Amino acid sequence: MTTATTSAALPDENGHFGSFGGAFVPETLVKALGELTAEYKAAKADPEFQAELNRLLSEFCGRETPLYPAERWSEKLGGAKIYLKREDLLHTGAHKINNALGQVMLAKRLGKKRIIAETGAGQHGVATATVAARFGLECVVYMGAIDMERQHLNVVRMRLLGAEVRGVEAGQKTLKEAVNEALRDWVTNVRSTHYILGSALGPHPYPMMVRDFHRVIGVEARKQILIKEERLPDMLVACVGGGSNAIGLFHPFLEDEDVKMVGVEAGGHGIRHGEHAARFQGGKLGVLQGTKTWLLADDDGQIELTHSVSAGLDYAAVGPEHAFLQDSGRVEYDYATDDEALAAFKALSETEGIIPALETSHALAYVNKVAPTMSKDQIIIVNLSGRGDKDVEQAAKYLLPEEG
Ligand SMILES: *Cc1c(COP(=O)(O)O)cnc(C)c1O
Repeated sequence: MTTATTSAALPDENGHFGSFGGAFVPETLVKALGELTAEYKAAKADPEFQAELNRLLSEFCGRETPLYPAERWSEKLGGAKIYLKREDLLHTGAHKINNALGQVMLAKRLGKKRIIAETGAGQHGVATATVAARFGLECVVYMGAIDMERQHLNVVRMRLLGAEVRGVEAGQKTLKEAVNEALRDWVTNVRSTHYILGSALGPHPYPMMVRDFHRVIGVEARKQILIKEERLPDMLVACVGGGSNAIGLFHPFLEDEDVKMVGVEAGGHGIRHGEHAARFQGGKLGVLQGTKTWLLADDDGQIELTHSVSAGLDYAAVGPEHAFLQDSGRVEYDYATDDEALAAFKALSETEGIIPALETSHALAYVNKVAPTMSKDQIIIVNLSGRGDKDVEQAAKYLLPEEG
């Protein structure tokens, strides 16, 4: 059995996290994924690449992000002391740019002239369009037609950044279909094109590479809490769509056995078929879009409909490393419903003057529940994965009905 203390060394060279992960792809992509893996390995070991990445993370993206004590919210909940890791303050408004920047720099090393991406809430599309503009590369973003409607502002941002946004009308018209279209494009144009996948998902090396580009979140948070409190936190909390912001925060703490970690999935309208996106609640083991992991499927293996108030968590599969961390017991996974997330969105906005993304609000909803059960000398760090500017109209529909 693989123990929690060795999990930080995963995946193996074929991209397996225990029995999860791997690369289930058509023949045409095997070579491209092999090249990407080799180039990533070279870039990781190249001090010049790392120095340029760090410079741009700082000067272009705004790292390091603050670790902010949410004093009023902590006091209101009356339990643990809560810190917010402020990824919402990054350029383009969420953690996504950490990964988009790393990958565009890899694309440049690989000599690729064209970038494609999928997007759900539009945050990854915006981050990708931003770095493509910065590096002067052509950019096409696939987005489900329903998501284009509920995240119109981000569609406009991508277009203003010079990207082409292609609406996807297939199936449920959300993220899963957008990933399918991006994969189809990549198979066709693999020589000229790099696919910037937006979460810790898909075939190897993506789950590993995306995680590594987001590890900076946890590395900074660990250093910052040791300076502020002279000790490690008792608990880390992050929302889990594909799982990139969560694994970025968690990974540098995996070997700190006293640090409890909780990933929060989207409970939607509640845990009933087709009404949520909480893969660890009633999901199954299967293969989707190149990786073996927990997903929501019916008894025939057909992917089920999913629902969440937040487009960025509305996806049928979870990243394979999270499947492994759940299986090994190192990380616990819970969920928050739409209503709980909206209540937390309101609470943070009103008590801290920070409007969080609806995705992030799921992590905050868990903190709302757990902090009051903890003592005042305990510490929680929650990843504030993104800001809520993109969500204000959606949230207003529920929270300010007089506006609509
Ligand atoms: C995309 C997004 C998420 C979900 O993606 P992960 O890969 O699970 O992090 C969470 N929060 C925000 C703000 C996002 O934009």
